[in-house]
Amino acid sequence: MIDILICDAHLYLDRDWEIAGGWIAIEKNRVHSAGGPGQPMPAAARIINARGRLVTPGLVNAHHHMFQNLTRAYAPVTRNGLFSWLETLYPLWTGLDGEAVYLSSYISMVELLLGGCTTSTDHMYVHPRPYLMDAGFAAARDIGFRFLATRGCMTRSQENGGLPPAAVVQDEDTIMADCERVVARFHDPAPGAMTRVALGPVSLFSASEQIMRDCLAMAERDDLRLHTHLAEDVEEDDYSLSIYGCTPTEHFERMGWATPRAWIAHYIYPSTSEAERLIRAGVGMVQCPSSNMMIGNGSADAMDLRERGMNVGLGTNGSATTDMACMWMEARNAMLLGRIRNGPASMVARDALDMATRGGAACLGWDDEIGHLRPGACADLVIWQSSPVALAGAMTDPVEAWLRYGPMVAGTTIVNGQVLVEDGRPLQSGLADALHRHAREARRIQKLD
Ligand SMILES: [Zn+2]
Repeated sequence: MIDILICDAHLYLDRDWEIAGGWIAIEKNRVHSAGGPGQPMPAAARIINARGRLVTPGLVNAHHHMFQNLTRAYAPVTRNGLFSWLETLYPLWTGLDGEAVYLSSYISMVELLLGGCTTSTDHMYVHPRPYLMDAGFAAARDIGFRFLATRGCMTRSQENGGLPPAAVVQDEDTIMADCERVVARFHDPAPGAMTRVALGPVSLFSASEQIMRDCLAMAERDDLRLHTHLAEDVEEDDYSLSIYGCTPTEHFERMGWATPRAWIAHYIYPSTSEAERLIRAGVGMVQCPSSNMMIGNGSADAMDLRERGMNVGLGTNGSATTDMACMWMEARNAMLLGRIRNGPASMVARDALDMATRGGAACLGWDDEIGHLRPGACADLVIWQSSPVALAGAMTDPVEAWLRYGPMVAGTTIVNGQVLVEDGRPLQSGLADALHRHAREARRIQKLD
């Protein structure tokens, strides 16, 4: 028996498969089938009439730092560049504990669901207390959100030439022991997994060579993904040259990280030949358009990298730089950034949607099951809605309309076959309590009490 049948929608099922006026059937937690007008629909326990609306795969957020919504739009750093922004915020983030991480993750996931995201990463790299990863996974479990968390880390504090204070860095043995624990507890390599774990220091300049090699060795042993920030800021070049005597990309390669299991955030400042080498190595890349523009440190030519063969996904980045964790907005901003860089013919809505679905899923090594809606895929999808005023006159192309007009929000978000947002409203019964507690934690972290 089919559990949910969505009918009379414009279905964007995959990069090369759309059906106008179609239906899609969900059985348990998988896509069962899809068809067009005139093709017989199966009987279903629940039918959702999505007349005139666009249905897409759930968007995949390939880069985030969920704890940062505790310092969202923090006034003292609103004019700062990346490095001074980090140096101001690190001391506040030393206050992170399990309650703060649980609540920031919970709020992040609900916020992402409202923007049409059904799978997110989280690069959690500040560990002033033990067991903080567990709190993020607890939030994902309580909501029913599909979650891949990177056990991030920093080993190089200010005393050793790094940016963060000693309170948020750890030694290599402590980090690797926790990596082993977190992977054993939360990494599920099985099909349909709801939780997976990746490894990776926050950036090369905050990490020792030993921890880079240790993470690589464990990832190869346990078949895990690797993630870090790379070539995000011009200052990073000087920094890398002074510490390692080479560029960030060269250091990345020397550490053995140029492998298909790695995906990197930003990648704004490689040389042409460096980018070419990482493309050939199969490294994936995630662009965070809103964050790039908010920090004002440039952005990668994502379409060029994509056309040259790189898996390119999109990410929100941490809430403190982006301030808004909405993957629809990231897709729109990616398209605008691409067109302002290379002209109007260079990029259309389908390119951005492909980055936000297939591209992100490929970065995570998960595109066999998510990022598309072919039969057998995970039942993660979105029925989009906007006000009739915003959509008035959009008659010819529902996918272009999706990204050119708006704001678009997820009318219905389904993850793993479960409806988590309906009529634009989040269905989590714990949300009001979580918001109340989040406000208390944000005041504490920002030292406002
Ligand atoms: Zn980041």
